[in-house]
Amino acid sequence: MNTIMAEVASDITEAEPSEELQQAAEILKSGGLVAFPTETVYGLGGDALNPAASQKIYEAKGRPSDNPLIVHIAREEDLSRVAREIPEAAYKLIDVFWPGPVTFIFRKQPEVPDSTTGGLDTVAVRMPSNSVAHELLRRSGVLIAAPSANRSGRPSPTSAAHVWEDLNGKIDMILDGGSCQYGIESTILDMTETVPVILRPGFVTKEMLEEVIGEVAMDRGADRPAGNIRPKAPGMKYTHYAPQAKMYIVEGQTKNVVRCINRLVKERQAAGCRVGILATKYNSLAYEGDEVIVVGERSDEVMISANLYRCLREFDQRGVDYIYSESFAGGRFGTAIMNRLLKAAGYRVIQAPSI
Ligand code: AMP
Ligand code: MG
Repeated sequence: MNTIMAEVASDITEAEPSEELQQAAEILKSGGLVAFPTETVYGLGGDALNPAASQKIYEAKGRPSDNPLIVHIAREEDLSRVAREIPEAAYKLIDVFWPGPVTFIFRKQPEVPDSTTGGLDTVAVRMPSNSVAHELLRRSGVLIAAPSANRSGRPSPTSAAHVWEDLNGKIDMILDGGSCQYGIESTILDMTETVPVILRPGFVTKEMLEEVIGEVAMDRGADRPAGNIRPKAPGMKYTHYAPQAKMYIVEGQTKNVVRCINRLVKERQAAGCRVGILATKYNSLAYEGDEVIVVGERSDEVMISANLYRCLREFDQRGVDYIYSESFAGGRFGTAIMNRLLKAAGYRVIQAPSI
């Protein structure tokens, strides 16, 4: 299969019809697959109500079939086509956060095929704010099932080039709408529980949700793996987001972290290894790694998150054996960023000793 790559403007207005978008809409209507930008990461889209289309998504990604897809919609009226028993609290949250980077889990309508929900009786639904995604949904009239557009186990794609790297030849079309605004996946909130539960942290934080509906819980399996606790979002149990190199997060006071990383780099280099460092801008010049990649300024968490997966892919391209990363815990979006970073690092965390 030849994958078509098409550039589309992300400031689409109705006055600017785009041939590429029309072509993508036709592909979706006829059961094909289109990768498209969203404000979180690139999605690999197919018709959510067509079992053959969602089947193809699993095949293209090499994704385990028990890991359900998120259904993307452009109009609130479409929610009840896929979901039932929608609580009042969900409408309050939708009013505030849609379109945007939050996904809700509801009981599913019978029309949603098992292949879209990984055999579950529930369905995940999101309304993206990205204008290309929105226009694709509107033009195709299709409810789009879309997981992230990467090969399973690779870092999620935040540009069309990443999608190309992973899925060229396996899907029908890639819409190139530039880099993603947030760069990490949506918050997932399970609305089927009496107290809604965050299954995956993201840019819509626990605090932001609680401001609108009161108490919200965090799934204990969503964070570090703890004994035999299973995460409730099936996808959270798979090793995800991982670069090929072995990665460690180094925590502690800045000067201790820098000293500790430089010492570890020396040890690895002495053993003949190439070492990468994921650094904030301010500290970057103090490091002595083979490849120092700046993820952003510590004060700008959106920049850090938008760059994170691109940096992990970059380390793979530069062929390092080990990566040491600073920690990004503590800030407003620290839970969301660290959730991805910890997974990428296989939960390997080193405390930098203070001297
Ligand atoms: P991705 O789009 O690649 O981030 O994958 C979608 C995520 O949503 C995965 O982690 C899934 O396990 C999760 N998800 C989708 N549908 C459901 C559902 N019905 N219940 C729980 N988690 C879900
Ligand atoms: Mg994914």
